[in-house]
Amino acid sequence: MEQGHADSLENSMKLERCLSVIGALLAVFASSAWAQDLGPHFRKIKDGIYVQSAREVNSTSSIILTEEGVVIVDTGQTPIDSREVMEAVRKLTPLPVRVVINTEVHPDHTTGNFVFSPPALVINAEGASDAMRKAYDPQRANVLAKESAEMREAVQDYRLVTPHIEYHDKTTLRVGERTFELLHFKNVHSEADTAVWLPNERVLFAASVAIPRSINNIRPFVSIPDILTAIRTMKSLNPEVVVPGHGSFGTTKIFDDSQRYYELLLERVGMMVRDGKSLDQIRRELRMPEYADWSYQERMPTNIEAAYRAVLNGRGQR
Ligand SMILES: [Zn+2]
Repeated sequence: MEQGHADSLENSMKLERCLSVIGALLAVFASSAWAQDLGPHFRKIKDGIYVQSAREVNSTSSIILTEEGVVIVDTGQTPIDSREVMEAVRKLTPLPVRVVINTEVHPDHTTGNFVFSPPALVINAEGASDAMRKAYDPQRANVLAKESAEMREAVQDYRLVTPHIEYHDKTTLRVGERTFELLHFKNVHSEADTAVWLPNERVLFAASVAIPRSINNIRPFVSIPDILTAIRTMKSLNPEVVVPGHGSFGTTKIFDDSQRYYELLLERVGMMVRDGKSLDQIRRELRMPEYADWSYQERMPTNIEAAYRAVLNGRGQR
């Protein structure tokens, strides 16, 4: 090959390499600018997966982009948050929101369904629609509207949107290139609780079974042994990222912490029952100093009652 020709070929290859480096840098810059543009409430978990939590104790709302449209997991703590999530979706993709998955029935996860549906289909486990209709407060929108001018605007067009699809034990959704495995956990938090597992991305949306550094409100139908079983099942999936129903996303440490808390609670209540103490005495005397810095200490009585029920049912043993 002639020397001059070889030189110019080498130069053009150098230029090409240089351009491709510039291109890659631009792509990195664009994607980080993108995530930043979504605002301070959003975090990127993985490519095309974002989670919003307006405040630490607020519910999480997640955006999962696919080639065929968007999947939303929970619709925000308040309608203001729901609209912020919708704005983020509009910045990320021109594709429609196809599916909303509710991980529980409570309003801080489901009120915003109306922002996405139609056109989105809403999915949760069986019993979700009945529970939402039963708990529906026709004054909720009016009460919210009085909070602020911003809220008044956000609740415009509010109506109750309950799941269009309910499944039994588990189901699989395939939207675009992504797979979503929905797992129905019973008696762990609300009347219908769904964890969402993305096996390829190894991301788990864990519903409100375990909330980081927070005492959960345990309703009379909820069972601590069932919570522990759900935690073990979710841990066995070996997720890389765990997105709880409230608070910051993290790892399976969220499960480890909750598991230790509930096991210790069962152990202490069990000992007191064996010592012949009444529920009232246990309520007064039981201390969990290891968890004094967790939020919502006022929910402790509901936790003690649930542990007491488990012990009396003979399910308090590890
Ligand atoms: Zn809840």
